[in-house]
Amino acid sequence: MLIDVILPFAVEGTFTYLLPDSCPAVPQTGQRVVVPWGQKKLVTGIVADVKTPMETGNLDIYKPVFSFPEDYPIVTSAQMKLWQWITRYYLCTIGEVMRAALPSDLREEKTSRQLKKPDSIGKIQSAHPLNEEQLRAKNEVQKAWKTTSTVLLYGVTSSGKTEVYIHLAQEQITQGKKVLYLVPEIALTTQLTDRLRSVFGDRLGVYHSRFTDRERVEIYKNVLAGDKYDILIGVRSSLFLPFNNLGLIIVDEEHDTSYKQQDPAPRYHARTTAQMLGSLFGAKILLGTATPAVETYYNALNGKYGLVEMKQRYAGLSLPAIHLLDLQRAYKQKKMEEHFSYPLVVRMREQLEAGKQVLLFQNRRGYNAYVECPECGYVPKCANCDVSLTEHKPLAPDMPSRLVCHYCGYSIPAPAVCPNCGQGIPVDRGFGTEKIEEEAVQLFPGARIARMDTDTTHTKNAHEKLIRRFADHEIDILVGTQMITKGLHFKDVSLVAVMKADAMLNQPDFRAYERAYQMLEQVSGRAGRAGTEGHVILQTSDIDNPLYAYLKKHDYEAMFAEQIEQRKMFRYPPFHRIIGLTLRHRELSRLEAASRTLYERLTRVFGTRCSSIIIPAVGRVQNLYIRQLTLKIEASASYAKAKEMLDAEVRYVKTLSPCKGTLFTIDVDPM
Ligand code: ADP
Ligand code: ZN
Repeated sequence: MLIDVILPFAVEGTFTYLLPDSCPAVPQTGQRVVVPWGQKKLVTGIVADVKTPMETGNLDIYKPVFSFPEDYPIVTSAQMKLWQWITRYYLCTIGEVMRAALPSDLREEKTSRQLKKPDSIGKIQSAHPLNEEQLRAKNEVQKAWKTTSTVLLYGVTSSGKTEVYIHLAQEQITQGKKVLYLVPEIALTTQLTDRLRSVFGDRLGVYHSRFTDRERVEIYKNVLAGDKYDILIGVRSSLFLPFNNLGLIIVDEEHDTSYKQQDPAPRYHARTTAQMLGSLFGAKILLGTATPAVETYYNALNGKYGLVEMKQRYAGLSLPAIHLLDLQRAYKQKKMEEHFSYPLVVRMREQLEAGKQVLLFQNRRGYNAYVECPECGYVPKCANCDVSLTEHKPLAPDMPSRLVCHYCGYSIPAPAVCPNCGQGIPVDRGFGTEKIEEEAVQLFPGARIARMDTDTTHTKNAHEKLIRRFADHEIDILVGTQMITKGLHFKDVSLVAVMKADAMLNQPDFRAYERAYQMLEQVSGRAGRAGTEGHVILQTSDIDNPLYAYLKKHDYEAMFAEQIEQRKMFRYPPFHRIIGLTLRHRELSRLEAASRTLYERLTRVFGTRCSSIIIPAVGRVQNLYIRQLTLKIEASASYAKAKEMLDAEVRYVKTLSPCKGTLFTIDVDPM
């Protein structure tokens, strides 16, 4: 007998092995299998198919399998279908999906541990009773599910969506179904898990990218056994757990960009994939957010999704008041203390004296922090990438600063004098969270100040500890990146300030405007969540931008109306679908030849649906030059057919001599 095996490699298709006659039982699809690979290596794969002897010819060419770690499948048939769908939709290999789907300990040849018996079953405690508005929303969601499997719950920040999710989840569980509660990468905080824990007890499972592999294997096996959890909260990769009997998938903060996997393949979106997973079980999908993705809201308005709204904050609180501060004028009138405008300083002092907390938001991403020599204008650059280096202050005062590349990690000690002219002393021109924190310490000497960004949250639990300290009011001022925008609830925050709100707008991305709105509305939503009046100060150099008028009125619909027009005009989603192609090579001339070859082939097939060759803003990363092409496919056309044609072209082009050695990646629905 022969078996086809999925191996965790980026190679096409499955691999065939011989099942020795000595094997006691015929393996089942989805079982793990250890097979020889190369001269003396063993790899763990998944049985994809068992072929009857009739289909087989000469068996000598096949290597025999080595062993089966278990005698039962660890990948269910629903998972197998999901894997296959992902390879087709996202144009990747099944091995790449396997790599993303299984914790690495399950992909290695290790003796598997016994499945743990479920702990004593905790009793479900009662959730908060819903108020009238929440009850209405819950009933409307259920009604909408009768006609569409996906419903958007569009509720303003702090409208009490979480409680509605909990009640809907409980109803599924009462019917004996399971619930998957998806959250964005960083939002999986103890705040939310504590709340769910108090309702679902140890019937709640948590799946996290920061868990150790051992922990992830254990959760995987618990989900497979099927009797341990009723509800599982997790990040996008929890879509790959071996569920059975799924009744509901909640996608919380559905607009969040961390739902899309960028690298490596599969470059899947959790919202799209959740809908596919749900359809395998006939499960319902609930998308929740205060700031829907433009595509999602469009689908809801057009009846593809159900739409349920919650326009009021819970307990009659009002949405925060938004104040704009014109940075250009403030600088001209010299009413600035470094990056803090006078009115901001005044309001912060006032709030701190009243015993309130302040959040300061500085988006580092998309903000060009760099170092420059004031004498000759020299800017130190990365040796491997076309980007300027960013200054990182030392951990201890007697250590030197370093200049770091945010793309590849390359770093050098900050030069004391300019290496170009030997005269000037290079100065930090950008400003990130570090700089804001430093300035805040100077301006508010009595206040307890902390910073939350990727630098301060490297270690396990650092993020949660910071949030807990802030929630317990052990910190007065928290400076942070977009990490602080996500779904957090702090009762004493009365003031939120955005240090430079227009920084997010100046990006060459058709979603930049939408993202800026979402981020600013979400960060504003952290203010005034428990009885205190909330205020938001947006400092901006671009005060006439209509974005701010929308934000002041919390008018998502107006922002949407403007954006949807633009999307239509410039052939973007939801009117067109986009596929991004990236080519990389060490040698620029070879890369350019390969790009031209692909471009010519694609324009022959796709005409003007193929863009011209794009040189990205950062044109070289880790010594590889980069070129891009974009395909725009009409929403009315067959996406599957277009992808098939694209796939065939890319495969063919790879075999041509100008393209040898070039790396190709395909990103379906890029973000
Ligand atoms: P959202 O997810 O819409 O931003 P939350 O679900 O976090 O809002 O609710 C905001 C606050 O209101 C939270 O502190 C929550 O505990 C409280 N809350 C919401 N609904 C209820 C309820 N039915 N009973 C008691 N407290 C509630
Ligand atoms: Zn670099």
